[in-house]
Amino acid sequence: MKTTELIKKENQFGAKNYKPLDVVLSKGSGIWVWDVEGNRYMDCLSAYSAVNQGHCHPKIYQALVDQAQKLTLTSRAFRNDQLPLLYEELCQLTDSHKMLPMNSGAEAVETVIKCARKWGYESKGVARGRADIIVCSDNFHGRTLSIIGFSTDDNARQNFGPFTPGFTVIPFGDADALEAAITPNTVAFLVEPVQGEAGVIIPPKGYLKRVREICTQKNVLMILDEIQTGLGRTGKLLAEEHEGVQADLTLIGKALSGGFYPVSAVLSNEAVLGLLQPGQHGSTFGGNPLACAVARAALKVLVEENMIDNAAAMGAYFLEQLRQIQHPAVKEIRGIGLMIAVELHENTPGGARGICEALQEKGILCKETHTWTIRFAPPLVITKPDIDWAMEQIREVFAELEG
Ligand SMILES: *Cc1c(COP(=O)(O)O)cnc(C)c1O
Repeated sequence: MKTTELIKKENQFGAKNYKPLDVVLSKGSGIWVWDVEGNRYMDCLSAYSAVNQGHCHPKIYQALVDQAQKLTLTSRAFRNDQLPLLYEELCQLTDSHKMLPMNSGAEAVETVIKCARKWGYESKGVARGRADIIVCSDNFHGRTLSIIGFSTDDNARQNFGPFTPGFTVIPFGDADALEAAITPNTVAFLVEPVQGEAGVIIPPKGYLKRVREICTQKNVLMILDEIQTGLGRTGKLLAEEHEGVQADLTLIGKALSGGFYPVSAVLSNEAVLGLLQPGQHGSTFGGNPLACAVARAALKVLVEENMIDNAAAMGAYFLEQLRQIQHPAVKEIRGIGLMIAVELHENTPGGARGICEALQEKGILCKETHTWTIRFAPPLVITKPDIDWAMEQIREVFAELEG
């Protein structure tokens, strides 16, 4: 079936909660994807960093198929032989004490909110019903009700209330604001090390270090949402390593399965997860053997195939190449590892969407973030010749841009 026909069906039968580029993909391998017409594109979004390991990685695929032939789901009413191994491997890899498996990223965030509140009441001694969690403006932590309740994006919130109370919003990247906002009822500070959906917003150097000090001093849990920044994207396994700190609780998801399956996890260095008793939290699919086998393989290839170091090296190269674009439409180019953004001036004809559509014509798939920012986040297996090819296309698009 051809592109127009498939798009027509999608528009007729689907909810329009996304505005995708008009490209219908049917195949992927490594950094490349193909549409139903047979055109090839370089994927510079990586499903919002869920396919860090590249599309259809053969070893993850093999793990999925092998496990699917044996056992897929037991529920947590019974034990399975994959979950303990994922627990051990992930805790050893991330230097965590415990982990709790879920499916989507939003579920991991919901889980950590429950756990942080419970810790506040049972460990810190906050009065019943008063626990408060500090979050940042322009955050993105997912789409469930309690999470959008503390979003500052009107489009994400409008007409979905009433919302869950118990959250305080402060500016991102401002450690003094955190210190000032903490009250005796504050149980946690939830933050992205780099704000992805906001447009790759990198906080000032030393921010996470100060956050760590403040949280320790005030007995507040430091929670890092590394669902997008984690697992190699920024050139480190976890972005917290850039500042040599360890969060009390860390959320990962997305690339935890290399894009094969929704798998997320809460990692804990503190005795927080230990407070959960049977029946207080769970998920039918969370920790299922298929998810665990896939996640184990996804972590293994990430490490064994040096994807994290490659992300650091190729990210630096890509950033340096992009910075050589001298075009009046470009306001700023920023990045860390393979999490890169090009921000346009707010009078650029067509905006970021226009550039993304022009790049699509040249065989590169990117997605605009808000109106003026283009994100470049290819799978971590990208090579120098791939980037050189991409740069040729990107340079042409800017050369053809009027103004
Ligand atoms: C994508 C994302 C989430 C939500 O993950 P889902 O799997 O889409 O629910 C949460 N936090 C961050 C930082 C993300 O990038």
